[in-house]
Amino acid sequence: MSAPSPTIHYPGRGSFTAASRTVLSVSPIEYRKNYNRTATQEDGSTRAANVEYVLRAATRDGYSTVKIFDGQQMILDRSSVTDEHQGNMGPMPITADQDASDFVAHCTGGTVMRTGGPGVIVCAGDEPTDAEIKKAREIHTVYARFMVNDGHTKFSSGNFKEITEEHRRQADWLGVNVPWRVELEQASVKKCPACAESILSPALQCKFCQTFLPDFYVKARLNPEDDAMVKHYLAMKGEGIKAQHPMPGTPVEAPIRK
Ligand SMILES: [Zn+2]
Repeated sequence: MSAPSPTIHYPGRGSFTAASRTVLSVSPIEYRKNYNRTATQEDGSTRAANVEYVLRAATRDGYSTVKIFDGQQMILDRSSVTDEHQGNMGPMPITADQDASDFVAHCTGGTVMRTGGPGVIVCAGDEPTDAEIKKAREIHTVYARFMVNDGHTKFSSGNFKEITEEHRRQADWLGVNVPWRVELEQASVKKCPACAESILSPALQCKFCQTFLPDFYVKARLNPEDDAMVKHYLAMKGEGIKAQHPMPGTPVEAPIRK
């Protein structure tokens, strides 16, 4: 059952039941944003109302939704500005449509141009349809593949530290096994084969002698069997990760839009 729609009162315009929009997410990441909206009460006075919209992280086969309502924001009423008076603040209606598109842009921001972003969309009705869930999953699949490719690129260029929790979650969402999905907090220690100092197991480069371990193993003709990260790295280079996973920047698949 959906939450009851709030009643909104506009001075001079009466009151009505706020319309709502449902935003759907299939992403394994949680999104939230605050909106400064005001509510006008029965006596005509207004009060600030901070609304926080939250889209919970979706499980691999599931989805989450949030309902976004019509609201209003206090703005300067220009008609009340005179030479002597700096003007009154008055409520301006903001439709659920406006806030829903803004919230989707917030969730997908920064990645829209390249992939369409995470699978977060505005639904046509109150509840998401099977077609809308399918469409969000299609959009999200493109995005998650992009993130996995990005993780591969960072891994193969030695930038392990730039691989984030989001990279790992998107790999999990796709159900793909990636060598760089090593939990840093669980990381154990290994010995640098060049200088014998203790370094973190996921490291590909020694922070003491700066040796790039895969190069060292290859040049010294050492067997990387006991260093899982070096072994994965060399295997990926050898097999050519480009053949398996298109690099970011190359068109992967266009998100399907209906
Ligand atoms: Zn070293």
